[in-house]
Amino acid sequence: MITRQQAIEMFESDDLVGIGLEADAVRKKLHPEGIVSYIIDRNINYTNFCTEYCSFCAFYRPMGHAEGYILPKQTILDKIQETIDLGGTGILMQGGLHPDLKIEWYEDLLRTIKSRSNIWCHCFSAPELVNIAEVSGLSLRDTIARLRDAGLDSIPGGGAEILDNEVRHRISRLKCTTQEWIDVHRTAHSLGMRTTATMMFGTGETIEQRMNHLDIVRNIQEDTGGFTAFIPWFFQREYTSLGRFVKQEATAVEYLKMLALSRVYLDNILNIQASWVTPGLKVCQLGLRFGGNDVGSIMIEENVVSAAGTHHCATEEQLRRLIRDAGFIPKQRDTLYRTYFLN
Ligand code: SF4
Repeated sequence: MITRQQAIEMFESDDLVGIGLEADAVRKKLHPEGIVSYIIDRNINYTNFCTEYCSFCAFYRPMGHAEGYILPKQTILDKIQETIDLGGTGILMQGGLHPDLKIEWYEDLLRTIKSRSNIWCHCFSAPELVNIAEVSGLSLRDTIARLRDAGLDSIPGGGAEILDNEVRHRISRLKCTTQEWIDVHRTAHSLGMRTTATMMFGTGETIEQRMNHLDIVRNIQEDTGGFTAFIPWFFQREYTSLGRFVKQEATAVEYLKMLALSRVYLDNILNIQASWVTPGLKVCQLGLRFGGNDVGSIMIEENVVSAAGTHHCATEEQLRRLIRDAGFIPKQRDTLYRTYFLN
């Protein structure tokens, strides 16, 4: 395990190959069999109405906006059936923070989904859960427990951005605080649920602030062991108001360094995801030698980063080839990163 200071020195070093080798050694120790996994699932964004106005977000529409929507239940069920027909094993369902949707709406949706199929429901990031609790007048614990009982299987790490209040105040003033994000994940873990942790960097934050984020994730994992994976990705500026101030997106080199740093520093989290949706397929492939052991999802549908101008896409065969060409064995996984029962 490296110290915070060593991590900062690693990030600031120009020895990109050395950084990659260090991360690859940790990856190899944790995944000696040389498997790189991917999942077939679908993002379903049930509403784009949102009250939070995050400056990095091109997805939301304010209440009453003509382009705002709440997906009808039947549309969500049809999307799930299509996912199953395409060999998908899960859905990642997230939406804006809607002030009128109380817990009963979410319970009814989850129960209906689970009455039709056993698809894995990886849904509702921390800000949504905090919002559901608030509009329903419930504690966070009761909210998560009731949703779990209705069919929620695990919780995505979205809404973390950078877990540092100064950064959050600047880019997502109204959205959940660092402490609330922590509370959601610790509560879910204490209820026996697994979650992922994410980080969106490149919004003008310092390396110290990124390290604050990594320290929070590492400490939670030390206590609970509840994170299945860590997924770093970077801010997409197009069509966002923050994009007027942050003139340049993170470079491929900066992405690879953050990926490697995450792998080395978070050695208590088994899986690190190398993303292709924002950096593109070739950088994702390089990421497999910078600590990544997973390439995420064959995205049947994605609306959030595509709203901010990112339009990379990939088929299952393209991702399998990308993994094979990098010298690894491709394996489909489920939401909990289990590969043993699939191909
Ligand atoms: S990032 Fe989420 S909470 Fe923030 S404005 Fe967009 S949809 Fe709303």
